[in-house]
Amino acid sequence: MIVVSPAIAGTIIAQSGTEEQKTAWLPGLADGAAKLAFAITESDAGTNSHNLATVARRDNDGWILNGRKTYISGVDESDAVLVVGRSEDERTGRLRPALFIVPRDTPGFEWKPIEMDVTAPEEQYACFFDDVDLPAEALVGGDVAGLDQLFAGLNPERITIAAYANGIARYALAKASAYAKERRVWDVPIGAHQGVAHPLAEAARQVELARLITSKAAALHDAGDKAAGEAANMAKLASADAALLALDRAIQAHGGNGLASEYDLAAYWGVLRVARIAPVSREMILNYVAQHTLGLPRSY
Ligand SMILES: Cc1cc2nc3c(=O)[nH]c(=O)nc-3n(C[C@H](O)[C@H](O)[C@H](O)COP(=O)(O)OP(=O)(O)OC[C@H]3O[C@@H](n4cnc5c(N)ncnc54)[C@H](O)[C@@H]3O)c2cc1C
Repeated sequence: MIVVSPAIAGTIIAQSGTEEQKTAWLPGLADGAAKLAFAITESDAGTNSHNLATVARRDNDGWILNGRKTYISGVDESDAVLVVGRSEDERTGRLRPALFIVPRDTPGFEWKPIEMDVTAPEEQYACFFDDVDLPAEALVGGDVAGLDQLFAGLNPERITIAAYANGIARYALAKASAYAKERRVWDVPIGAHQGVAHPLAEAARQVELARLITSKAAALHDAGDKAAGEAANMAKLASADAALLALDRAIQAHGGNGLASEYDLAAYWGVLRVARIAPVSREMILNYVAQHTLGLPRSY
């Protein structure tokens, strides 16, 4: 599973790809037969994507791509990587954002696994692009500036991550409730103790609220409403926070069993914890809300 493949790459190609790119990629991205990893993060740029140093220079009819990316999910499972870099504007000579589809077996493109202590559904990779020779058609959308294309893919990704966090939260709470009704260590089930019941009830309330804002974000996105950006950001943050709380409380209600493989809870901690960092961090979402919802000035 690569969440970014349909959520980011699929949306970008559907909205900005050439007809050839849509025909080549969309059916497979929709049914899962084709996968596109998504590569924007660079070690030296971090959260500041204005500092990207991956650059494509024109070469005859095509492009020569050079750069490095890090923490790219699922390269091993993907057919190609959608790389966010910069290319030269022919008229102004200035560098501008541009997205390129780089097939995994392209000469000059190498990828190496990064050892992670927290496991997500996908493996993470460092990617190296050294004089990668790409045809003109590798540029997403032909000769169009890439930043709008990139932003188009972000709301569906946030909504998708919110939805899977909500799903894990509901799973954890259902497991915890079932366990708390059965497990007795005194003369009543542990769920009868308010010390066990209230933390689960409080988490259930937060998960329900997270699901509501997720539905709102999805409806606004489907309607093409500009307010989808604010709602999608809030949905991702609310859902990741609510799901981590729900999972932690479900583990607590299981006592020692909550950490055992047999009870299948603790293994979900990694994927939920990542949702607070990638592809956009908790702090950058709060920056977005501070600026767009509250009209506060930015510090960066
Ligand atoms: C498991 C995993 C999977 C990933 N998958 C992908 C992928 O498929 N493709 C991809 O391109 N990237 C991927 N990433 C990278 C991820 O998107 C970045 O790690 C994330 O955007 C944060 O960037 P950074 O790690 O460079 O943190 P930094 O930019 O170094 O930030 C460090 C901390 O400072 C905070 N910070 C930075 N600037 C500000 C500010 N202005 N205000 C407040 N706080 C700030 C950040 O929020 C963060 O908490 C993945 C990362 C992980 C861990």
